[in-house]
Order: sequence, then structure tokens, then C-alpha cells
Amino acid sequence: MTQNFIPYGKQDISEEDIDSVLKVLKSDFLTQGPQVPLFEKTVAGYCGAEYGVAVNSATSALHVACLALGLGEGDWLWTTPNTFVASANCGLYCGAKVDFVDIDMQSYNLSVEKLEEKLIQAKKSDKLPKIVIPVHFAGQSCNMKRIHSLSLEYGFKVIEDASHAIGGKYLDKPIGGCQYSDITVFSFHPVKIITTAEGGLATTNCQKLYKKMQRLRSHGITRDVEDMILPSEGEWSYQQIELGFNYRMTEIQAALGVSQMKRLDEFVARRQVLRKQYDQLLEQENLILPSQSDDCYSSMHLYPILLGTQDSSLARSRVFKCLRASNIGVNVHYIPVHTQPYYLNLGFKNGDFPNSELYYQNTVSLPLFYGLTDKDQVYVVSELKKALQAIE
Ligand SMILES: *Cc1c(COP(=O)(O)O)cnc(C)c1O
Repeated sequence: MTQNFIPYGKQDISEEDIDSVLKVLKSDFLTQGPQVPLFEKTVAGYCGAEYGVAVNSATSALHVACLALGLGEGDWLWTTPNTFVASANCGLYCGAKVDFVDIDMQSYNLSVEKLEEKLIQAKKSDKLPKIVIPVHFAGQSCNMKRIHSLSLEYGFKVIEDASHAIGGKYLDKPIGGCQYSDITVFSFHPVKIITTAEGGLATTNCQKLYKKMQRLRSHGITRDVEDMILPSEGEWSYQQIELGFNYRMTEIQAALGVSQMKRLDEFVARRQVLRKQYDQLLEQENLILPSQSDDCYSSMHLYPILLGTQDSSLARSRVFKCLRASNIGVNVHYIPVHTQPYYLNLGFKNGDFPNSELYYQNTVSLPLFYGLTDKDQVYVVSELKKALQAIE
């Protein structure tokens, strides 16, 4: 019997999800109806945040979040190199300059020690960042308490890129409550924890940021008389008061999101079970397994293993090939953003952020998703063990 393909990540769609979507398709509104506000309320309520703004992707959410915080030309945005390119691109969209803070080798998150060192240097040369975007890599929160206190000391704003992390907790509170940040951003791409096909959402506790992000997702238009620049001409009146975009989420997507939210805790619980099983099954191997911080309950978006502590690029390629040949969709998260051709062209060099590069040379992400069966997980592990023996 041939083995079915096992991807590294995958959505789980129930009959109830399908029914919710069908209901919208048969309703009066495919966009700009009641589902989007309901989804926003559901996510913000779950996270313990005041407000939510749903958009068509996390990338759009990052963009409007940066604009709402006033990022523009001449400003600096800092993030981690160990992320998807979108966490950095949002700064460039706004005409700002982007720089990176290297990771720590425990959590693979942005290192707060390195952040502090870089802030001290930046203060001397008057190049302090306007925004710092910590990314909760693999679903585990960054050290937000320290980042928050540094933000007060050095006067920068914080956007949490929690694309991996909905359903996770930090200090026993749901990620997304913005206790230590201005805005938190989630992604609902199908490989993430819950899905709306494409989609993103920003949470905040600040009404001003909320209203601004709402306007920016829809052309910069307001229908709120209070925010109008000219006197309202009647109930039909709307005014474009700034330059925005069409970043709206559809009703179809939002309905799917509302339905998926009902199973969020169950999704994360299963991911945690799979994580513990991987930990046990791989305990004896000469590998570095993802560590869990006591402060965090990770949503376990990813299970990245490290093959060594020096450059293992060659071994990694061979393991990767073996597993793909066995129909296992392993992946690599992430190619450090500063080593992408576009960023090299901006002046970054290989060697600029050595931890993220070393991490990258060693890492493989094993399949981890709600629907992964115990049997398939055991198969992944046995194929991985074979591949590791082959490279010894
Ligand atoms: C997936 C992802 C994004 C982008 O999300 P989209 O919804 O696809 O735009 C941004 N940042 C991180 C860390 C991600 O993993």
C-alpha cells in the first residue's frame, strides 16, 4: 500500500464549517454584512481585547497596523529574521526602513538581550525604531513583558505578529489581548491554527487605532459623522479622509472563521498532544527538539527539529529529500528574511544575524496539524529515524 501524502500543515473543515459557508452563500450579503463584525467580536472576545479588525490577510493586517501607528518615511521598523517575509515587508510598504534583531537559540524568537543591546546602540546614533514586531514563532510567545518595558524606555510601538499563535497563552492569558503591545495580528491561512482560506485580523485595546485600521481596510472612508472633515450631507454621506485600500474580508470567510473559532481550543489541544508524542518518540535521537517555556502555552503551529549545533545544511538536505521521497511534506521555517535576494539588495549580508542563519542551516519542520493521525505520526518518526541513520 502506498503511503498517502502527509503535508506539514493542513486545515480541518467540518460539516458545520461547510454549513456556515453555505448559509452565507444563500444570504443577502456576500461581503459587508453581519458575519465580519461577528467574527471580529468572537476573536477579540476570545483574546480578551477590546476591538478586532478583520482583513483579507495577515499581511494586510500588518500593513494597516503599521500605518495606524504612524509608520512612514525615515522611520525604522525592527523585526526578527526568523519569520515569513510579510513581517518585514509591511515596513517597506510604508516607506520605512527595516532592520532585524537576531534570535535566541532557545525559543528561536527575537532575543530580548539582543534587542536591548541594539536599542542602546540605536539611541546613540539617533536611529531608534518606531515599531518593533516580535513574532511568536511556532506559536510560542516572545518575552512580551521585557519587550513592553523596553518599549516604554525607548519609546517604540509594538505589533505582535501572532500569525502562528492564536489559541496560545502567555502568562496564562490568551495571546492577542494586547496587554504588552499596541496591536496583535493573526493569520488564517489554511496552514495556520484556524482558517478563513485567506484572512487576517488585528486586535487592539485602543479605540483610535481600531477606527483607523477599520478605515484603512476600506479606502480610508468613514461613515461616522464624528470623524468627517466636512459637514455630513445626509444619511448617504461618506467621506474619504485618508488613503486606504480594499483589504476587506468577505462574509464567506468570516462565517468560516466564526465556525472554526468554536474548535480553536480543541485544535490546539490536539497539536499539544502531537507535540508531546513527538517529544517522546524522538527523545533518544541526537536532535534538538523545540523547547517549551514555562511562561507559555504554545499553539504549536510548527514542530521544528534541529539536526545539530553547527552547519548541518548537507545533512538537512539529505533528510529532507528522504522524507519527501517517503511522501512526508517536511518543510523549512524560515529562510532568514535578510538573506532573501530582495533584502540582500537593500544591503543586508549573509552573516548579519548568525543565530537565525545557524538555526536555518539545521532546521526541519515535521508535519503537525489537527488531523494528523497517531499512525501517520509514528510513520513520520520511523521514516525520520531511517533518514538519520542514512546520514550518520
Ligand atoms: C503566515 C504568516 C504571515 C502572513 O500571513 P498571510 O495571512 O498569509 O498574509 C505573516 N507572518 C507570519 C509569521 C506568518 O507565518
